[in-house]
Amino acid sequence: MNEIDRIAGNLPTTERMPLLFVGHGSPMNTIEDNVFSRKWAELGKQLSRPQAILCISAHWLTSGTFVTAMEKPRTIHDFGGFPEELFRQQYPAPGSPEIAESIMNMSPEYFIGKDFDWGLDHGTWSVLKPMFPLADIPVIQLSIDYSKPMEYHYNLAKQISYLRAKGVLVIGSGNIVHNLRQLHYDEKIPDWSEQFDSQIASWIESGDDKSIVKFQELGSLAKMAHPSYDHFLPLLYVLGMKEKTDQPEFFNSEFQIGIISMRSVIWK
Ligand code: ZN
Repeated sequence: MNEIDRIAGNLPTTERMPLLFVGHGSPMNTIEDNVFSRKWAELGKQLSRPQAILCISAHWLTSGTFVTAMEKPRTIHDFGGFPEELFRQQYPAPGSPEIAESIMNMSPEYFIGKDFDWGLDHGTWSVLKPMFPLADIPVIQLSIDYSKPMEYHYNLAKQISYLRAKGVLVIGSGNIVHNLRQLHYDEKIPDWSEQFDSQIASWIESGDDKSIVKFQELGSLAKMAHPSYDHFLPLLYVLGMKEKTDQPEFFNSEFQIGIISMRSVIWK
């Protein structure tokens, strides 16, 4: 038995799943029929059916790293000021204690705790609902330890990249530009927003992960694009799980409003 099979227990080996970074934007995208949600639905039909889905969402920040380990994760409505219809949405996908266990055991260098309280936040279900509407594929979430340096997220992800060969679809859910403090109610895209988005896009295209992990070196540009880093960090996780042969393809490369880039990437 090789090392990966030992760690991954009884999970069957499959073809390597693609990797996704999804710009989720407004939670309303999940109930609105728009260009973004239509693309999510289309992807769900194109991808081969995953054994399970692991989501790293901008909306689960913790001290320490945790993985959801319950049989039935609840749907969390972690937002305010939206219509009642959005609060009525449920995504009753099962969890996977087995995959949670395997993630926990993957490396003694990283302590990953089991979580039984969280569930699926809107960074996860708002995207999965249009993508896999039947909610019949097990879903787990990995939290983001916000106190850790950028390299931590990238390096931790490398340790669990074996999941891709176990039929697990990994999705980082955030936004490449996300600054709600600059919320202007017009469609204009500020220069800093466009500039940061295209800089990150060109590093993704050239496979320059190092520069993306060190994005804070962009100084004021990085601070404008991300006054806090929650929506950027999921990208570091998916970058850490790439293989050399994976090629990126962009989709939804538009702005929802000027200060939210919806640019999304699939590597396969
Ligand atoms: Zn968000």
